[in-house]
Amino acid sequence: MTSDPRTRHATAQPRNLTVLGATGSIGASTLDVVARHPGLYTVHALTAHRSADALLGLCLRHQPRYAVLSGCAEEASLGRRYAEAGFRGELLFGPSALDWIAGDSACPVVMAAIVGAAGLAPTLAAVRAGKRVLLANKEALVMAGSLFMRELGASGAQLLPIDSEHNAVFQCLPVNDEGTQTGRARVRRILLTASGGPFRSIPVEQLATVTPQEACAHPNWVMGRKISVDSATMMNKGLEVIEAHWLFDAPADRIEVLIHPQSIVHSLVEYIDGSVLAQLSNPDMRVPIAHALGFPERIESGARELDLCAIGQLSFERPDEKRFPCLALAYAALRAGGTAAAILNAANEVAVEAFLAERLRFNDIPRVIETTCAGIDAVPADDMDCVLDADARAREFAMRLVRLPLGEAA
Ligand code: NAD
Ligand code: MG
Repeated sequence: MTSDPRTRHATAQPRNLTVLGATGSIGASTLDVVARHPGLYTVHALTAHRSADALLGLCLRHQPRYAVLSGCAEEASLGRRYAEAGFRGELLFGPSALDWIAGDSACPVVMAAIVGAAGLAPTLAAVRAGKRVLLANKEALVMAGSLFMRELGASGAQLLPIDSEHNAVFQCLPVNDEGTQTGRARVRRILLTASGGPFRSIPVEQLATVTPQEACAHPNWVMGRKISVDSATMMNKGLEVIEAHWLFDAPADRIEVLIHPQSIVHSLVEYIDGSVLAQLSNPDMRVPIAHALGFPERIESGARELDLCAIGQLSFERPDEKRFPCLALAYAALRAGGTAAAILNAANEVAVEAFLAERLRFNDIPRVIETTCAGIDAVPADDMDCVLDADARAREFAMRLVRLPLGEAA
């Protein structure tokens, strides 16, 4: 046991924290946990893409040193509006400000909670600067896993997984206080759980007519729209298999997916002696976020106590590959290696956006991804240019597919 977290936090200096993607669902949960522990962190910077009003609200509440609107060009009137409303920090604009703030040496801890490929550059900037990086932005690792892990090794940065499954696996693996895992060689399997999303049991034929609103109505979690659709197609779990491969250095055939509709067991690790360790909690992202914010101490998250008797039953089943073709597509990309996962991720982002804009049917999402993966050759992901080139070519290819009349995407 290390020192009592309450006394430690009361006496230690608050650490600076930057939240990339502060206006999103993970951003909100992060700031909720931070606000429960005055004295633990000082909010150094908050970023959003274009949601100026939402960011202003957060700035007034947390008074960061910097606020960044990465999707807006410099606008003096906006700066004045922030100042007149009472924001005492500095408002910065554009993607270069985002990369700069992610790597700013004044801040040792960064929550990477931007959605999609847009999170890659700033998250890598934080890794290169040797920070403690709390990683929610799984797409960054999916796109550029080998480069990402190489940079991590070179800079000495520390990665703490926020995705609930990976945070659970992390908790079930032996680690030292620096967060370095030990004893991975004795792991037989990593079992990632998945709720199965909102369409786990509707007739498969109905998948052609489900709406974005239905897809975003996740039974257990309230999340951003993109990850909600990914959960409904189970591409989210596919991306998480790839994420687990990089985070835990596990080959594809040692990572399995289990459907667990209650979302109470967040993932499991099986050891060679047959022991299986699992992490459980109510489905609330503040649990993994508090784990990472406090690490290696435990801090309160605000999540409700787990009442297993009220839940009664925990059930598990195998994923239905017909209903969820995205899962197999992700395993195939992981096995293909190189830029295959970047191509898969880009095609998925384009298809999900088209579905959310009601330009693509739900069951055409996997078709767009499969056709894109088949249409673009993967090459070794030797450097960032290779990854960004694969991403751009896959986007262009997938964009052409989603412009076709509905049903002709395949
Ligand atoms: P969200 O859509 O709620 O928020 C996304 C944030 O990113 C916002 O602050 C937005 O302003 C910012 N953003 C969007 N596009 C951007 C761009 N082009 N450039 C810079 N910033 C941009 O998303 P979320 O649900 O909070 O998810 C964030 C990340 O965390 C995703 O990678 C997701 O897969 C992962 N994640 C989320 C959850 C969850 O419960 N929400 C769980 C596990 C993992
Ligand atoms: Mg997850």
